[in-house]
Amino acid sequence: MNSEKKLPSAISYLREELQYLRQRPLSKQKKAKTHQFSKPVASFSKPDRLKSGMGTEITLIFRSRACSWAGSASGGCTMCGYWNDRAEGDITADHYWQQFTSTIEKFKSQLEDVNQKIVFKMFTSGSFCDPKELDEKLQLKILQKLTEFPSIKEIVIESRPEFLTSDLLTKYRQIISEQYLEIGIGIESSSDYIRANIINKGFNWKQVIKAVERVHTHNFGVKAYLLFKPPFLSEYTALMDLFQSIRDCVQLGVDTISINPTNIQQNTICSVLASQNQFRSPWFYSLFWIIKHAISQKELEHTRLLCDPSAAGKERGIHNFYSHHPSNSEAIDILQRFVEHQELSIIPEIINDKESLVNYNRYRTEILYKWS
Ligand code: SF4
Repeated sequence: MNSEKKLPSAISYLREELQYLRQRPLSKQKKAKTHQFSKPVASFSKPDRLKSGMGTEITLIFRSRACSWAGSASGGCTMCGYWNDRAEGDITADHYWQQFTSTIEKFKSQLEDVNQKIVFKMFTSGSFCDPKELDEKLQLKILQKLTEFPSIKEIVIESRPEFLTSDLLTKYRQIISEQYLEIGIGIESSSDYIRANIINKGFNWKQVIKAVERVHTHNFGVKAYLLFKPPFLSEYTALMDLFQSIRDCVQLGVDTISINPTNIQQNTICSVLASQNQFRSPWFYSLFWIIKHAISQKELEHTRLLCDPSAAGKERGIHNFYSHHPSNSEAIDILQRFVEHQELSIIPEIINDKESLVNYNRYRTEILYKWS
């Protein structure tokens, strides 16, 4: 008999910490009152880039029971704080439906205007397609309702790959005939090592490939979310990882790539590291370098590259030096113009003038020494 004690795997230490962090908000968070369950966390409208050009985005962020992966023994992903915002208590399908219909009512005039080009986005702080979060009947009822508005040209939802079954996608296809449905998958990185051990994502690249194939077989689109700078990685390593992940996603044939520069959310591994000066959100310099070099103008004709960073310009989000060129507000403006026009020439070569060169050299020093 082998009497050697089995050592726990390295990932189990990370998961232990994640579970501890997931428990912390439970005692602190204000419990959502039941009457709030029928109101979404937010719903808003703003200009956005659709596949066919500029139009309007209507976004609905559901008050939800949040991601079942975060609520599982895994503890969820290392950078994700959505679990903090979950509705505790018995939130039902009726509550979700009320949140949805109140949003439809709020934007009724835009939705009924046939001259509008609208992308309707729904976020559940988890997976729209996960029956543990939204039961299947409700998913179909919501999509059915959206097909009644000719102004809606695109629908965007998010899901982990394991919920994107052929059976479910067939049912979606029976409902959606005119609109373009794009399903966002939080791929984060094309590296299995980083996704498993650094992000704790719980699925591998093979599963991603199969899910993308299934979605495409049903003639829906795929939006790949890529994380720029997970915890534990230096700026340089993160930059290389994102570069390679963009290349792999272009090769895979995803329709849209959305870069998410890490923002430090409460009760996450990132927030723990940041509190000990061991994590900094990425630099705009790095993001611009990657956009400029990881994809060609020709590839942008069939793969949209989006980036709408949370907390941009703030300490907890992507930022540059505060008072230097390009300043944070300049960088945000450059990024927005790039997303709108999908034109690489909008992204500046950051070392083409003396002041930028000085800042860039400071930045390189920071990458090599302080944040490595
Ligand atoms: S990133 Fe997505 S899959 Fe990971 S815990 Fe957050 S909501 Fe869940």
